[in-house]
Amino acid sequence: PERADITYFGAGPALLPTDVLETAAAALVNYNGTGLGLAEHSHRSELATNIINTTKKDLAAYLDIPDDYETLFMQGGGSGEFSATVYNMVAVWVERRKQKILKELGVEDSKQLPENVINELQKAVDEELKIDYLVTGSWSLKASQEAARLIGPGHVNVAADAREINGGKFGKIPEESTWKLSKNPAMVYYCDNETVDGVEFPGFPEVLAPKGDDGPIVVVDMSSNILSRRIPVKNFSVIFFGAQKNLGSTGVTVVIIKKSLLAPAVATTQPALLRKLGIPNGPIVLEYSTIAKNNSLYNTLSIFDVFIAGQVLKKALNTFPNKVDGQQALSEKKAKLIYAALDAHPESYKVVPDKSVRSRMNICFRVTHLESGTDESEKAFLKGSVEIGLTGLKGHRSVGGIRASNYNSISLESAEKLSKYIESFAAGPRK
Ligand code: PLP
Repeated sequence: PERADITYFGAGPALLPTDVLETAAAALVNYNGTGLGLAEHSHRSELATNIINTTKKDLAAYLDIPDDYETLFMQGGGSGEFSATVYNMVAVWVERRKQKILKELGVEDSKQLPENVINELQKAVDEELKIDYLVTGSWSLKASQEAARLIGPGHVNVAADAREINGGKFGKIPEESTWKLSKNPAMVYYCDNETVDGVEFPGFPEVLAPKGDDGPIVVVDMSSNILSRRIPVKNFSVIFFGAQKNLGSTGVTVVIIKKSLLAPAVATTQPALLRKLGIPNGPIVLEYSTIAKNNSLYNTLSIFDVFIAGQVLKKALNTFPNKVDGQQALSEKKAKLIYAALDAHPESYKVVPDKSVRSRMNICFRVTHLESGTDESEKAFLKGSVEIGLTGLKGHRSVGGIRASNYNSISLESAEKLSKYIESFAAGPRK
């Protein structure tokens, strides 16, 4: 088939706009009349810096990122950030806890801390250091498991586990009043949109809102719903996402971080102290302050992938004069169309997650249309969909079922086509 014959609903990497790919393809061969392709240009060149800075500026404009936040382009994917967030936020916690102890004991900061300070700090690490996770799906679960692997399960507090209120499966988000948050966690971590399970937070959790100047350190994985709705950036300490769903091609991971977490006052480069306290030092390529200091060019970065992200942002800014609010309205409209078609036929379909937490991005459902059962129904549904060019609808291997990923590159027309197919399949024979 030709590209134009296919509407791809895969969960990631996702479809990219064809015109962006055409621009990128030309840039890959000869960038801007330089005679050299973009993947061949040095990451230290002026043109590379320009691409980085323009993409940062456009992302900030699109999402209204305040000036006291820095944007980093990193490598290692969302999974790399599961580790990076732990290393960086634990180091920040240690630094802040150390400062508090120094103040209490009236001791000056230095590289060689006196033994009583080290002892107090060790006690604090052993007894107080916790990282809180809200486990609402496969990806936040994976992040919490990575944290336990890196710094030990004793430091990981699962403040909520959605499976406990939903018969052992994901599909709901526990009430905020039931979350068992720690007193002074190194971070509260959650995943805004669970790609595998189709669960999305309806909005920012009230209990995590900043109080006065101070607030909990909130870290969020927005890999699969970034750029699809307005977010209160100010409420977050760190927002991260892989590019490969709503932003661009696989190969860059974006981190939006509050600058105060990078400042020398909370120097995360304290390897000897961390070692002494039994806390592992993370790889330097995952260290936010190092990446920030080098404007994302500490080491070789795929400028080509940043370029694609930049082109997607440019297109978004041109398409939606009111920026992410425009995309939000469209995302909601598309998701409503698809869910409405599913809800109209309860005998043929069952949406997996609870209505209150249905994802606008990953629409997960089971097909129960045929008398021969769910397996046969889903096989028939998928076969029929491929025949009319709707592809990538198979659910994640760990949960089965059907998943329609309704990312930004899915047009209203494509969502209409899918909802019509859902209708027509339900109107077909049940045997
Ligand atoms: N977080 C979410 C929400 C995801 O959907 C994914 C991948 O699909 C990841 C993290 C992991 O990302 P990566 O494959 O880039 O490591």
